Amino acid sequence: MGRVGRFLRLTGWAIATPWRLAWTTLAGAPVQLPVTMLARWPELAQARWRRGGLPPRVGGWCLGTRTVAAITLWDTIFLAPDTRFSPPLLLHELRHVHHYRASRLFPFRYVWQSLRCGYARNPFEADANAFASARLSGGDTLSQDV
Ligand SMILES: [Zn+2]
Repeated sequence: MGRVGRFLRLTGWAIATPWRLAWTTLAGAPVQLPVTMLARWPELAQARWRRGGLPPRVGGWCLGTRTVAAITLWDTIFLAPDTRFSPPLLLHELRHVHHYRASRLFPFRYVWQSLRCGYARNPFEADANAFASARLSGGDTLSQDV
């Protein structure tokens, strides 16, 4: 490789590396779920999974904590850096993907319900918990109805 080629490669690295770091800091990094979990709950593959990034922190700030274990934004579920792959949590978050798919207004309805009822009593949270419980107990709630 000539001098120009080396210069271009180094310049590309010098630009791409900070950009990649900044992007990972903001958006986290893609993560693969354990194969055994996907085999047991194949519907988990309906979502895109990332680890880290700003969304779990922002979710935490809204709840007065440093971070939340996970947060769902449309088809993407962001896990906090230290969150373990817990089926109840993963299935709960998957249900929020269903909520997003069911209504474009979901983010607004979710915030409205949180303001009205509080986070713990938000009907979307109750629905996500019920969905996760049903799937954990082998219940067939593959319906996308929300
Ligand atoms: Zn939730």
